Amino acid sequence: MVVTRFAPSPTGYLHLGHAFSALSAFRSANGGTFFLRIEDIDSSRCKPEFTDAILEDLAWLGLDWPKPARRQSEHMADYAAALDKLKEMGLVYPCFCTRREIERDALRSGLAPHPEDGTVIYPGTCRALSKDERAARLASGEPATWRLDVEAAAKQAGPLSWVDRSRGKVEALPQIFGDVVLARKDVPASYHLSVTVDDALQGVSLVTRGEDLFSSTHVHRLLQALLGYDTPEYHHHRLLTDSSGKRYAKRDRSATLRDLRAEGKTPEDIVKMLF
Ligand code: GLU
Repeated sequence: MVVTRFAPSPTGYLHLGHAFSALSAFRSANGGTFFLRIEDIDSSRCKPEFTDAILEDLAWLGLDWPKPARRQSEHMADYAAALDKLKEMGLVYPCFCTRREIERDALRSGLAPHPEDGTVIYPGTCRALSKDERAARLASGEPATWRLDVEAAAKQAGPLSWVDRSRGKVEALPQIFGDVVLARKDVPASYHLSVTVDDALQGVSLVTRGEDLFSSTHVHRLLQALLGYDTPEYHHHRLLTDSSGKRYAKRDRSATLRDLRAEGKTPEDIVKMLF
């Protein structure tokens, strides 16, 4: 039986792109289970009113899921436990760098930014700190993010792959993002960590999400191997674009389900627009 999910972040109203993703996942459950998960760990960006709107919009669209939906903000202990396990394995380290220091060091080291999203690859400055210096700085209360030592982790895990519905077997190359952040200074879990933990805890067998998150799967596959989780199958679906070819974004009011509903569109109209 398929277990799949739709996992929006409540940072705005759902638009047609979300409806396509949610309905694709819902349909692929095909008699199995479809979970809704609210990814609201970042309290500076997520708002409760958007969570309420997501629940309402998806119910209006005709989707149903086991209630209550899992809200990540209520499960921080699960992510902390996974991080602790990685700490015990010696595969994460505290990073005290500011954003500005990272940019400066990355420039000096000549590291190219990430080829897909242009983000700066962490140059590894704090990986080189001694055990004693780490302990002293942590003990003094200096704020730290926790980063995965991706080279060491990949070496320990050995060769990895996953099965993608549209691309077949994909070899995992987790090094593409460098030493990713698993826990932030302000939020003690990152997207990569929380999504991997939740998919495993919820027994998700098929991860349905947009093509824009394809490269994150390289990191998630490595985390699964380190944490002893099963690997789900993946379906990274195409991203919907508007009539001018632009991807829908939360700021495009015209494409939100709320506005379409206010204009008199029915759930059937939305389905016809999408499939
Ligand atoms: N919360 C993520 C987002 O809204 C999606 C996470 C996922 O499907 O893996 O972009």
